[in-house]
Amino acid sequence: MAKRSIKSQKCGRDARVPSIQQILLKWFRANARDLPWRQGRTPYAVWVSEIMLQQTQVATVIPYFNRFMKRFPTVEKLARAKQDTVLKHWEGLGYYSRGRNLHKAAKLIVSDYGGQLPDTVEELKKIPGIGRYTTGAIASIAFNRPAPILDGNVIRVLCRLFCIDGNPKEDATKKQLWELADTLVHTQHPGDFNEAMMELGAMVCTPQNPQCPKCPLRNQCDAKKQGRQHELPVRQKQKALPHYTIVVGVVYKGDRILIDKRRQNALLGGLWEFPGGKKKSGESFKAAVAREVKEETGIEVTVGKRLCIVKHTYSHFKITLHAYLCEYKRGIAKPLACDAIKWVTPKDLKKYAFPAANLKIFPKIYNL
Ligand code: SF4
Repeated sequence: MAKRSIKSQKCGRDARVPSIQQILLKWFRANARDLPWRQGRTPYAVWVSEIMLQQTQVATVIPYFNRFMKRFPTVEKLARAKQDTVLKHWEGLGYYSRGRNLHKAAKLIVSDYGGQLPDTVEELKKIPGIGRYTTGAIASIAFNRPAPILDGNVIRVLCRLFCIDGNPKEDATKKQLWELADTLVHTQHPGDFNEAMMELGAMVCTPQNPQCPKCPLRNQCDAKKQGRQHELPVRQKQKALPHYTIVVGVVYKGDRILIDKRRQNALLGGLWEFPGGKKKSGESFKAAVAREVKEETGIEVTVGKRLCIVKHTYSHFKITLHAYLCEYKRGIAKPLACDAIKWVTPKDLKKYAFPAANLKIFPKIYNL
């Protein structure tokens, strides 16, 4: 099949559009999953769920969403909360800038929008953490505006439905996909239609094994007709993730342990951690721990036994973290390369939000 030009998609409106819309809406109404954010839906719940669902599976999000909505049932409650409390409720969900921006945005919505999420695409775009995809999702699902959305599920469905051969990571293909999504969105039921596209991608048109015989769009789908459903969307070769060796010190002073807060603009910003950092080449593990603790907090420590080795993979790199038990020697702890420091009891560690790799050290501390 000849590749469609962007122009012909935009002006000609593919002849299949009305049938795709009708079939998909009917299918969604009969097959939509009963998800917590679909019950008694409010713009606030749509917003929170859409932010949590960015780069995260539905099954992972459900318990986080339920806990979050219980603790912060309104935008006002979220705006009034401390960032530490918000991040504690985000702990383990990853991509922490989402939680920080949600909190920042809640304050802005209360101060500038009277506590109401704006209902237009133009205003939604001004809210921190709300990009083009989330704008479309909130505008269509919460406010019934005919705005398109394009997430991983929708990209996959569109690439297969229309045999898009370009790489969705490239700008030209992305532009083509946004235009297609805009052409397809149903003007009367944009929210249901957008959710139907995402649901089809999540439940039927899945990455590895698309279930074409069960698919409501099997007679409309170009990839199915051409037997190309397994090769689309085209994928970029995955680059090997860089690996870093990290050392941290679990520094005791009496019965208290030193923790520090990562800088706001750093990766995992706003989370607490045990002081540490990258080991330099040629440096011994113990020397690296002593150096990192001093650089970060200004104190000198005696480095003792190794508590554990933790392996963890983040989205863009992997780490092997070596945690050492340390004893405070001298100096006054100050936040030199972090936003704050605290001496806390082992029991109180759980009150603070820590990155996943640091959390894996906790059982070793409790078993000392
Ligand atoms: S027919 Fe197959 S490839 Fe096409 S949209 Fe349905 S599940 Fe995806």
